[in-house]
Amino acid sequence: MTSAWQRTAAGANLLGSDGRLGVTIFEEMTGLAVRHGAINLGQGFPDEDGPAEMMEAARSAILSGANQYAPGQGIPRLREAVAEHQARFYGIALDPWREVVISTGATEGIAAAVLALAGPGDEVLTFEPFYDSYGAMIALAGAEHTTVPLHAPAFQPDPAELEAAFTPRTRLVLLNNPHNPTGAVFGRETLERIVALAARHDAVIVTDEVYEHLVFGDRHVPVASLPGARERTVTISSAGKTFSFTGWKVGWISGPEELVARVRTIKQFLTYSSGTPFQEAVALGLGYPDEFFAAAADTLRAKRDILAEGLRAAGLDVFVPEGTYFITADTSPLGIDDAPALARRLPELVGVAAIPVSVFCHLGGAERTRSLLRFAFCKKAPLLHEAASRLAGLADAL
Ligand code: PMP
Ligand code: GLN
Repeated sequence: MTSAWQRTAAGANLLGSDGRLGVTIFEEMTGLAVRHGAINLGQGFPDEDGPAEMMEAARSAILSGANQYAPGQGIPRLREAVAEHQARFYGIALDPWREVVISTGATEGIAAAVLALAGPGDEVLTFEPFYDSYGAMIALAGAEHTTVPLHAPAFQPDPAELEAAFTPRTRLVLLNNPHNPTGAVFGRETLERIVALAARHDAVIVTDEVYEHLVFGDRHVPVASLPGARERTVTISSAGKTFSFTGWKVGWISGPEELVARVRTIKQFLTYSSGTPFQEAVALGLGYPDEFFAAAADTLRAKRDILAEGLRAAGLDVFVPEGTYFITADTSPLGIDDAPALARRLPELVGVAAIPVSVFCHLGGAERTRSLLRFAFCKKAPLLHEAASRLAGLADAL
């Protein structure tokens, strides 16, 4: 019998990282960036704080005594704000008392959902590449991780491959839309196909929508809003991306009472409850007018374009993302076929850090994505221009 840390480490793909226990690829690249004074476009976090008013709200919550445990389910005001947000943007009606739980970031929501809803003998299906914690959590749950490849340039699944990936053992589909690391957005048709396949196989859908407001085309379509989806879908999101407070670690889980109750049963023994004063502040933010959320995407779109242009000028093939704050670029036009090795040299070579896409894959997928790098563009425009000018020297530096 393997222990939990062994299963977790086996499921987390350490390819391309130096494999040190307890150090993610993101932290490894951040460490290299700091050591070489490089611009860190690896680990995805903004270099500007979110709204000052929300920071003030957290501060006054602390000063006015919101310093003891929050209820395990989350403070009522935030649960209500999550329910109102889902109704306002997506027309999804939720009972804040039974169908919403606050988590310690989306990370805990994912962990609790996978542990609650899948176990030995079950298959959990994700796209590949997949966000790193999915592999680790599926392994920790003792379930089997199956994948459907996303195909460049748009990083969409092939309908036949999607259908073939479902089996009678598929218990859970762990979706991520918009998608990290590729920046792909899955449209209504793909989502409807997933809902139909999940229904046919009686699988639950867990959907990680942390980038829901960071989309550059049409408004985000949550899978839970599609016909036939609500009763089998658990939706996870968080304040980190939308409000540029990745360090606050406030997330939320919503869906039908019965599924949410199962997830809550696990969550209560992971962290029990999540930072009280931050919950107050996030409740305020979720109530901001529509324009606030639209402005976040507009600002980011301009940044995306700066970095995309810089990467193109550096000689890379760029896959322009439809959402998230990540760009995937192919280094093969520069004659590179080992992006993980390049990623480790890049901070010293040109003073920019990135993440190899293969770390978001199993072995076969890692082969297919071996020349790809992921760059984060949630940084101030002058810094992105500086990164672009450094990357312009890449071909000569190689
Ligand atoms: N899911 C995805 C797809 C992410 O990219 C991230 C963070 N980058 C998370 C979950 C984790 O979110 P949180 O910080 O709220 O735990
Ligand atoms: N989710 C962030 C990213 O994709 C990093 C979070 C982390 O460091 N685990 O870059």
